[in-house]
Amino acid sequence: MPHRILLAAIAAIGLSGTSLAQSAPTPLEARYDTAIPDLEAALGHDFGEEITPPEDAVEYLRTLADMAPDRMQVFDYATSWEGRPLVYAVIGSEANMARLDEIQADLQRLADPRGLSNADRDALIDALPVIVWLGYGVHGDEISSTDAALRTAYHLIAATNDPVADSIREDALVIIDPTQNPDGRNRFVNSFTQARGLQADGFRYSAEHDQPWPGGRHNHYLFDMNRDWFIMTQPETRGRTAAMLEWRPMVIVDAHEMGGDQSYFFPPVADPVNPVLTEGQLEGHDIIGLNHAEWFDRIGSDYFTREIFDAFYPGYGDTWPMMQGGVAMTYEQGSARGLVWTRRNGEDLTYAEGVTNHFIASLSTAQAAAENRERFVRGFHDVRAAASNNGEGPASIILSRETNRWGAERLARLIARQGIEISRIDAGTTACGTSLPEGGFLVQLNQPAGQLARTLLERDTPLPEDFLDSQEDRRTRGLDHELYDVTAWSLPVMFNVQSTECANRPNLSGEAVTADDAMPAGVADSARFGYVIPWTDAGQARLVAALAAEGVPMRTAASEFTIDGETFPAGSVVIARTSAPANLDSLMRLNARMIGASYAGLATSWTERGPNFGSSQFADIIAPRIAMAWGEGTDANSVGGLRYVLERRYGLPVTVIRASRLGGADLSGFDVLILPEQSGGGYGAEIGESGAGNLSRFAQGGGTLIALGDATRFITDPDINLLPLRRERAADTPTGGSGEGALVSGSVIEDDAALQAALEPRNARPDTSPGALLNVTANADAFLSAGYTQGAAAMVTGSDIYTAVPLDEADTVLRFAGPEDLVASGYLWEENIAQTAYKPFMVSRRSGAGFVVAFTQDPTARGYQEGLDLALLNAVILAPARSYRLR
Ligand SMILES: [Zn+2]
Repeated sequence: MPHRILLAAIAAIGLSGTSLAQSAPTPLEARYDTAIPDLEAALGHDFGEEITPPEDAVEYLRTLADMAPDRMQVFDYATSWEGRPLVYAVIGSEANMARLDEIQADLQRLADPRGLSNADRDALIDALPVIVWLGYGVHGDEISSTDAALRTAYHLIAATNDPVADSIREDALVIIDPTQNPDGRNRFVNSFTQARGLQADGFRYSAEHDQPWPGGRHNHYLFDMNRDWFIMTQPETRGRTAAMLEWRPMVIVDAHEMGGDQSYFFPPVADPVNPVLTEGQLEGHDIIGLNHAEWFDRIGSDYFTREIFDAFYPGYGDTWPMMQGGVAMTYEQGSARGLVWTRRNGEDLTYAEGVTNHFIASLSTAQAAAENRERFVRGFHDVRAAASNNGEGPASIILSRETNRWGAERLARLIARQGIEISRIDAGTTACGTSLPEGGFLVQLNQPAGQLARTLLERDTPLPEDFLDSQEDRRTRGLDHELYDVTAWSLPVMFNVQSTECANRPNLSGEAVTADDAMPAGVADSARFGYVIPWTDAGQARLVAALAAEGVPMRTAASEFTIDGETFPAGSVVIARTSAPANLDSLMRLNARMIGASYAGLATSWTERGPNFGSSQFADIIAPRIAMAWGEGTDANSVGGLRYVLERRYGLPVTVIRASRLGGADLSGFDVLILPEQSGGGYGAEIGESGAGNLSRFAQGGGTLIALGDATRFITDPDINLLPLRRERAADTPTGGSGEGALVSGSVIEDDAALQAALEPRNARPDTSPGALLNVTANADAFLSAGYTQGAAAMVTGSDIYTAVPLDEADTVLRFAGPEDLVASGYLWEENIAQTAYKPFMVSRRSGAGFVVAFTQDPTARGYQEGLDLALLNAVILAPARSYRLR
């Protein structure tokens, strides 16, 4: 990598320039202003002595701000699901603290280089402090970082003899976000406290360290918020990203913990690096990393760089702020996961050591930023200026509303929420060869937030060639690939919104979209017979769910029908006024407006084509009572994504049942039971073969059983066999083993090729997918495919590929596209493309009075594939409507 050569150059000329690191006392030897309370005085324990609970951490920052209001202020930015406050503290010189509003206004001007004269630009760069954002504890059980945040804040305002602190306050504005995930931290502190005894225990399997399900990593809805930055599903993420867009940080830290046997990690980062990032940004990593190296050498702490933690996926706490123009870094401290952890070599790692390392790295970051103030402030401007004038790739993106109106509207708001400019296109326009009868949206990619806009909206962010070559080479040697996350995240693909990449910038001056624009609804005047809700997108399904909860009788069509010259697709829902509540008109209007859905009036029930409403092709919609597996044996990420999507995006309440209860519980009160992905011993251990009988009875009795992702392994296990699907081994690999008896037949290996063949793993699984979005195609004959005539794309990870299933055994509702059209975005190995093509993605079978439905990949993972929500809602709403359960 060229930036690594730069690193050597920086070292040679001493650009890191922190002479203070060599001579002055370290911050660990600082003296403090006794008027300002340290942690002991405020909370009764010293820094690193106890794991400070999240509310106490926030209270301590408020206390510090009360004691030194001219150096520090605290701002609330969000409230967690469980009601805990999220705050950040701003620390700076008295002069800067007295003009925070002016600084924010200047930051906004600097953040938009278009139309800024050179003189104005230079004056801004001269006058502004470098904005340093230090974020801690986004994973709630990565504990030491929050206490390091408290110590950093205390040191910066109370140290009396530390020239490093003085220079930081002078040239930087330091923003400290101490608890990015207070609910998760609270969960960890509780399980740790409950397990404590006479003394802190270093044994790695002691209950202090071994968290009960789901552990403290996730927030309340069990999201990994270090993947949520551009999807912004969680209130914590939304508040934080909004605050960042106000403060425009130039140097950003996201402080984590990793396994307790490791030391400390800071950048430079591992390959691959997202191609939208600039050399200048990576050089910033080097400047700060070199400064850390000096400090860590001095205090005697080990560290490593480059080996893991890439900067490719834009949803991390370092990549997202970096794509806003900053220099952002992930730090990882080996975790004591408690107060002491005995490493494999017998040494004890204490909590206090972790706090110290994060504290030193935090100060070192702010110091390097302050001492190179102009370089980082100018660098931020330059990145955003370059993004505004980028000559590479498409110049603009057009998003159509035609096939997924609600999804496109939601996507436009999500784009606006990231600080990316997006505007509305009038209906009936043609732009870039795309006709837009329903209107749509335009994003000019050459804009200050262009780095983020490109990587989120282009169809593909290519992996660097040399990285790909090295990964293919590793595969031939039987080694795992080195991608830390996924290779695809294109938002239009994930939202199933048609997009056009445009070489030019069409001159369409439409209205700007803002994140909080009301969703447009399509309401109809009161009509004589009733109403019809076209089943065209997930917003329409949400309207049906809302009306079902209000007790409005509705019927869904198995096939399309035409009334009064207008054709409505399969799935569409009809409401007859005669059987509806008296306030039907206002129920329709209010709910459609709240959701942003649309419906049409029907003067007559006479269908010109297709079934009549009295036909058995129409089935009664019910308000489904939904249960899902939860707890030990389930995968917390999958549980969280599923529950969030159903409850918070579609207003469908869900009963969560511990997986271990599913074998014995009376499930007859539910219409739908969903099994999210598994972890640990999975459903095999929690439910087992005997308990699976209860699931089978549930479906037989009229329930809809739905398996997501690898839960499909459980219901298709030959001993359980709720669905006749089978998982495949890798194609073209030898099968069988050396099995019977002590001796096997003799053999001769004649050459290298024969040796390679002999070394091929037996019964090998397909290689693990590095996370690609693959196109799926709908089977129009299956009622569960309603709304997917255009197909969709699904994120494929892992190595589960299932056999095609014969028509007389089950319906393949959605299947993967052929090999030529398979990859919608991202990268997939050639053998996996060949083996995945045409195979099932969503399968259903009538089972007694009910249904069994399987998704071979989890459609609700991370809550980020909105384009698949309707497929899930089809299973949750349309399948129960067609069950034969007696009511
Ligand atoms: Zn982490």
